[in-house]
Amino acid sequence: MRFDSLTQEPKVLLGGCSDDRLPFLAFVEQELMLPEGFYFPLRLAGGLSPLAHKNEVPDDFKSTLKAVKFPMDHRPSITTGIILEHAFCGYRQECLPSDLVHNGIEDLDIIADVLFGNFPQFTQIQLWFADLINGGKTWDFSKIKVVESQQVCRI
Ligand SMILES: [Zn+2]
Repeated sequence: MRFDSLTQEPKVLLGGCSDDRLPFLAFVEQELMLPEGFYFPLRLAGGLSPLAHKNEVPDDFKSTLKAVKFPMDHRPSITTGIILEHAFCGYRQECLPSDLVHNGIEDLDIIADVLFGNFPQFTQIQLWFADLINGGKTWDFSKIKVVESQQVCRI
């Protein structure tokens, strides 16, 4: 099969975990209602959570920052970040100290700070969390917060 190249400039960086239990496409299409080409999907083990743990996972912090830098450098049209963390994340269980494993929601604020600090082109970052409910059968996606860049001059 052949498909046309996507010519639209993406407006959104969409960062989430590569966990294949997450119905990521359904989240994008039905909850966020973003058309293909409108967003740059960045799925990594643990999502962007290493950005909240520079001291605990310094190598992953660096590689995650680099993974974000690529689309940000090449796509100046990106001004919004949508960041998704989720419950029962395998990366967190394996790589983070046990007292931080369940801090997915708390980490979102730190991730937003790091993104704003490193990539001034962000004007807004939406923070989302997916919880596993219904005896582990259903993912419940909640928008936790929308953070605006402090550097935007408001009149
Ligand atoms: Zn995960």
